[in-house]
Amino acid sequence: MSTEKAEAIVIRQADFSESSRVVTFFSKEFGKFSALAKGAKRLKGPFDAALDLLSTCRIVFIRKSSGTLSILTQASLESRFSPVSGSLNSLYGGYYVADLLCSLTEDEDADPEIYDLAYAALKELSDPEADSAASIIQFEIGLLRRAGLFPNLSECSVCGQSVTSEKKYAHWVSQGGLLCSDCRRQEYSGKSISAGAVAILKRMSGEGSQLSERIRLTKDQSVECHRLAVSVITNVLGRKPGTLRYLNF
Ligand SMILES: [Zn+2]
Repeated sequence: MSTEKAEAIVIRQADFSESSRVVTFFSKEFGKFSALAKGAKRLKGPFDAALDLLSTCRIVFIRKSSGTLSILTQASLESRFSPVSGSLNSLYGGYYVADLLCSLTEDEDADPEIYDLAYAALKELSDPEADSAASIIQFEIGLLRRAGLFPNLSECSVCGQSVTSEKKYAHWVSQGGLLCSDCRRQEYSGKSISAGAVAILKRMSGEGSQLSERIRLTKDQSVECHRLAVSVITNVLGRKPGTLRYLNF
């Protein structure tokens, strides 16, 4: 048991009692963890508005051994998620980021790069000038890459040949990658993905690819890149993420 400090994003909340909540954070220092926030439901509670969903805050907590809830002792708001007015993709994109952090990361598996990706995605989703679809895709790709789940986009999953010269690839996600046109068979029923979308996915997933480096996507490319990311995520989770149906691509 020790007292720790962290910078964290609120990714889930659940009622615990009349006055208390269990809050799940994704923190820069400790990854994902849940903490009991006593009094958090009271109007003039000890944590004010710092614990709103998707808020970024600085927290102090008593860290318990694994398997038991930590206890939140302080939380101060750093920034609030403020979705673009009238944009459902901005609002639900934020919920989707929280959903993926909840479901695709392990407890207490710190990865500051994932934290930075999430922080940047929420910031972009609050920006009326930004392309919300591109922000969502960049987050999906970055998270899959950091989690070691990003598919191999260079070689055919069956024959291992380089697929760089193909114009259309079939995406065969259960085997974690692409199929060349020779290996594509009806029974694999992979959807096609264009060479242009594969090139964008490679750029977005490259080591050191910067979120600030805005990649412009056509509508079709957005649809293709998002579809590939979603098929990988769905395959890993065994279900579609719950918030996915509210996103419009
Ligand atoms: Zn092949």
